[in-house]
Amino acid sequence: MIEKRQFYINGAWVDPARPHDHEVINPSTEEPCAIISLGSQADADAAVAAAKAALPGWMATDPADRIALMEKLAEIYKARSEDMAQAISTEMGAPIDLARSSQWGAGYGHLKTFIKAGKAFQFEKPLGDHAPNDRIIHEAVGVCALITPWNWPMNQVMLKVGAAMVAGCTMVLKPSEESPLNALLLAEMIDEAGFPAGVFNLVNGDGAGVGSALTAHKDVDMVSFTGSTRAGIAISKSAAETLKKVHLELGGKGANLVFADADDKAVKRGVLHMMNNSGQSCNAPSRMMVQAEVYDQAVETAAEVASKVTVGPASEEGRHIGPVVNAVQWEKIQGLIQKGIDEGARLVAGGTGRPEGLNRGFFVRPTVFADVTPDMTIAREEIFGPVLSIMKFETEEEAVAMANDTEYGLTNYVQSGDATRRQRLARQLRSGMVEMNGQPRGAGAPFGGMKQSGNGREGGTWGIEDFLEVKAVSGWANTDA
Ligand code: NAD
Repeated sequence: MIEKRQFYINGAWVDPARPHDHEVINPSTEEPCAIISLGSQADADAAVAAAKAALPGWMATDPADRIALMEKLAEIYKARSEDMAQAISTEMGAPIDLARSSQWGAGYGHLKTFIKAGKAFQFEKPLGDHAPNDRIIHEAVGVCALITPWNWPMNQVMLKVGAAMVAGCTMVLKPSEESPLNALLLAEMIDEAGFPAGVFNLVNGDGAGVGSALTAHKDVDMVSFTGSTRAGIAISKSAAETLKKVHLELGGKGANLVFADADDKAVKRGVLHMMNNSGQSCNAPSRMMVQAEVYDQAVETAAEVASKVTVGPASEEGRHIGPVVNAVQWEKIQGLIQKGIDEGARLVAGGTGRPEGLNRGFFVRPTVFADVTPDMTIAREEIFGPVLSIMKFETEEEAVAMANDTEYGLTNYVQSGDATRRQRLARQLRSGMVEMNGQPRGAGAPFGGMKQSGNGREGGTWGIEDFLEVKAVSGWANTDA
């Protein structure tokens, strides 16, 4: 059993102010795999005080010096890739091959992209030729509370930590209590890289405890949060008392528009994308909308593809999907599958209960519903499990209206051989991202949502900007000083 009860505060590993053990459960076995501590107000206060004390020195450093430390961190992160993959796989259930590739790799990719974007970023620049004595300075927002979920843990942690580091912010990270081990490993790496004490601090805890203590804290200048829309609303309210900046990356209910002229692989690609990470991705293409001419064929293909998706323990190598993260999520998903059946959707693959041969672990059957209509619960609520809803449309206008008929706006997808149509749709879909014909977004593309999917953007240059204030200065002398 892994025991990691300490927090990382002011460059040292410290005991919690009050002992409060918390078991981390391996979702493949339902057995505890680690013990951590849940912190309290006193721990949050100590971490914020350390971050506040470190801020003036850190924000005044040359960005090149901050980036040099991040390059060291990237080397260490790479050298310890297997430790990181094992931690993620054990605590949140990503199959080990997925943990070694995408889960570990997302963190590495973001770190490298921030280093590159940081080198190119102009922290100071003239306003313009019309105002030669005006200077624009991009300056760190200050002390940041970073609150992250469990589903793509290192992806989300690095999107915040990396951007805050480049920007010159100091930070307190509170990772999800479901997946704290990967973040604790990162803290070890940051320590080894030699960042100044207090720049990065980590306190474990739950939302009601450390989470609330950080969002309400008077010395925290900004909260960057990724997680549920429910928690995003609570955090915004809590942060309003001190008028701190709040950056939110929340849920999604992505539409995947499959037109009759889509390529042959479009449906298969959509199903596999939905099932990846056991459906636990905020940008999952969970509503597949198919044009009437190819609808029956698409349903048949989707059912066949889903029925071939294998499910198994996270520790096993291979291309199967793992369990979902915990009992609460498992129950929620079961309830939503049952609701789909009760509300009249046509179940064409999967269903309630565990997959055959698995009677322990939070495993869910890869499930596909056809004939889903916009009013059904499974068309509206984020399921966060391997469950796909297929809907039918006749015209492009109807498809856009259906896709936009959601409170979310994170990622939508378009599959069509007609470039003019694709580009028209990319402009009409109300979401922060549109991915077309299976082409992934490039490194450094901004990630984030509209409507109740949140605000702000993460990754690359846009991610760095979100951790910066813009200062306008007049009377600038234009010397080298
Ligand atoms: P969650 O909101 O319950 O928890 C996320 C984090 O917030 C955890 O660290 C938790 O301890 C903390 N938290 C919870 N309530 C809080 C509060 N009142 N104050 C402060 N902190 C609080 O979400 P989850 O179950 O961990 O993650 C799943 C959700 O996250 C899904 O809805 C998913 O779509 C969303 N998500 C969004 C993105 C994105 O980038 N848009 C990425 C991943 C996950």
